[in-house]
Amino acid sequence: MRNTLREDHEQYRDQVRKFVQREIAPYHHEWEKLGAVPRETWLKAGREGVLLPAIPEEYGGGGGDFGHSIVVIEELMRVVASGPGFPLHSDIVAPYLLAYGTEEQKQRWLPPMARGEKIGAIAMTEPGIGSDLKSMSTAARRDGDYYVLNGAKTFITNGLNSDIVIVACKTDPEQGTRGVSLIVVEADMPGFTKGPLLEKIGLLAQDTTELFFDNVRVPVTNLLGEEGKGFGYLMHQLAQERLMVASRSPALMEAMLEETISYTRNRKAFGQPIFNHQNTRFKLAEIKAKTVACRVLVDHCITLHFNQQLTPEMAAIAKLYATEQQGQVVDELLQLHGGYGFMREYPIARAFVDSRVQRIYGGTSEIMKEIISRTL
Ligand SMILES: Cc1cc2nc3c(=O)[nH]c(=O)nc-3n(C[C@H](O)[C@H](O)[C@H](O)COP(=O)(O)OP(=O)(O)OC[C@H]3O[C@@H](n4cnc5c(N)ncnc54)[C@H](O)[C@@H]3O)c2cc1C
Repeated sequence: MRNTLREDHEQYRDQVRKFVQREIAPYHHEWEKLGAVPRETWLKAGREGVLLPAIPEEYGGGGGDFGHSIVVIEELMRVVASGPGFPLHSDIVAPYLLAYGTEEQKQRWLPPMARGEKIGAIAMTEPGIGSDLKSMSTAARRDGDYYVLNGAKTFITNGLNSDIVIVACKTDPEQGTRGVSLIVVEADMPGFTKGPLLEKIGLLAQDTTELFFDNVRVPVTNLLGEEGKGFGYLMHQLAQERLMVASRSPALMEAMLEETISYTRNRKAFGQPIFNHQNTRFKLAEIKAKTVACRVLVDHCITLHFNQQLTPEMAAIAKLYATEQQGQVVDELLQLHGGYGFMREYPIARAFVDSRVQRIYGGTSEIMKEIISRTL
């Protein structure tokens, strides 16, 4: 019933699904104990065309569009693989480099990112601020041909593995949002250090860390776009980032609904499959309706985005609605599994804990309501 994605997207899905089934699903449980996805898997993903699918071929990417990016997100969600930070790397970090980078920067960073040799991260959040981004205190002072960067960032996805980090910082602290710039820090720069893996309740295979900058001398050639324009760039790119978060919701809900239908058909209580109890069928019917509603909303936004018509408000509506529905739905699906739903070997248990952060990262539900309410 979907008409958002094209035939070439569906063909790409076959390729990505095979990769996820062979190289990710069997190892994800192991990576959850490690707290990270091994670099070897990133290199394999690069070799098999799973990274940077929407970046032009001249920069090593797949030459596709946002629909190809959506396919990767959906296929990872189908097996509850929250570890590989591929979407952030491919569809958040790389688009900044493509949109605002000089030709030299694009040639330097995008091809190794497409091959999985360099892993990307973006650092906005600080220990003291998250939602109120304009109050960031990480600062870069100009010194000849260098910026001298000082500060700390936290909750950074791909943090431990990162080789290239887009750091949001103040180059002119007096100027408020007009003093924010984006500077690319590379892993081997003296003074740049990474904290240990943060102990999270979910996304256990995702390497999330703090990053510290102690007088890091970053060449001015690593400035992304124009000095002082960073806040505008962030606001512009956040709509796609929020749609990406929203798009995880129907994909996970669909997969978990299917899984729960199968579970309740096989498990018996009081002489009949759990599925046959009216409460089960009614719950599943409600969840199907909610899942379809989210799918229609998210697909509509994907179409808007294809046509460059996705507004910040629409992205906020999709993120708010889909992630809130996801939270309720996975809780109800877990309930239908009884005690087994509480065991991590069952996908619904992992889906339940991993879902919680959906309402927080990329802007909280409350911030989404702020954005939407400004348009009322
Ligand atoms: C697993 C994970 C991965 C992440 N990855 C990244 C990453 O790669 N890069 C990055 O930069 N950041 C990342 N983040 C950070 C994430 O984007 C922030 O956590 C989020 O934006 C919220 O900021 P905060 O945690 O500082 O909460 P706060 O801003 O302190 O908010 C606390 C509470 O106050 C509420 N609140 C704040 N302001 C208002 C308001 N005006 N009105 C009403 N309520 C309000 C919030 O909604 C929230 O409920 C990640 C976070 C997590 C948990």
